[in-house]
Amino acid sequence: MSLPGGNLLCKISAFRRFIAAVDSSMAVLDKFQYQGIDAIRVGRFNLGINSSFILYRLGNTLIDTGPTNQWRYVKPFVEEKPLQQLILTHHHEDHSGNAGRIKTLTNITPLAPELTVQKLKRGFRIPITQRILWGAADRVEAAVIPQDLCLADGERVESIFTPGHAKDMTCYLLPERGWLFSADLYIANHLKLLRVDEDIATILESTKRVLALEFDTIICPHRGIVKDGKQRLQEKYDYIVNLAAEVQQLHQQGYSQKAITLQLLGKENLMSRLSGYNFSKINLIRSCQKVVL
Ligand SMILES: [Zn+2]
Repeated sequence: MSLPGGNLLCKISAFRRFIAAVDSSMAVLDKFQYQGIDAIRVGRFNLGINSSFILYRLGNTLIDTGPTNQWRYVKPFVEEKPLQQLILTHHHEDHSGNAGRIKTLTNITPLAPELTVQKLKRGFRIPITQRILWGAADRVEAAVIPQDLCLADGERVESIFTPGHAKDMTCYLLPERGWLFSADLYIANHLKLLRVDEDIATILESTKRVLALEFDTIICPHRGIVKDGKQRLQEKYDYIVNLAAEVQQLHQQGYSQKAITLQLLGKENLMSRLSGYNFSKINLIRSCQKVVL
């Protein structure tokens, strides 16, 4: 005879064993170089690009920090070469999580957009699924990105404010190379799920602003190096605009958000359900409905 709730306890204990097994078996998922960049991909789960993160170091500058649950791999990567500068794109825990540890290790104060500085100082809430995926994030005193941001050798870096995915998100353009460190602006051509705090109209505005710049390579912390990056980003922009038009057309025909979601994007997936619909298809549909076309 099983005790009430025994089944749930069994499931929790099996889940804990699974997590422990994953933790003990994972290593750096990939390590590569690209035209002066050193990169490592880390992640607790090897379930594709959305569950792993790439740290990029260009010369003595590191762009974003990777998540805290990967610190055992991030630390030796940071220690490989002398670091002079740490630049952050936004506060999300996979991007900024280790900023405090890197500061303690190297004595380097992270540089970040103004809103990111505020968020990192007071700390921020991380939903449970993201906490499982990435771990917690350090609170840290960062400094605001200067107007004349550059690499150690004086090469100019332009910061491009690109809110929408997060209110503080900023991309970094290296105009002389035609490179864009794109934070979470690109990731993929097709957007399937949206966080509850993301806003499609603002994402489109930001994307348009970036598309007006000169670059050809996107350096994405999830996807990797994307050649013809401007073309790919344009495709993503077009995809979202088309999706928003379809959503609005169906809405005018009287369909509910749930019905529109099912028709255009199919059923919610496991990630949606695990996140309690914090990250879901219906969020994307709802936000598309508000876009002014
Ligand atoms: Zn993000």
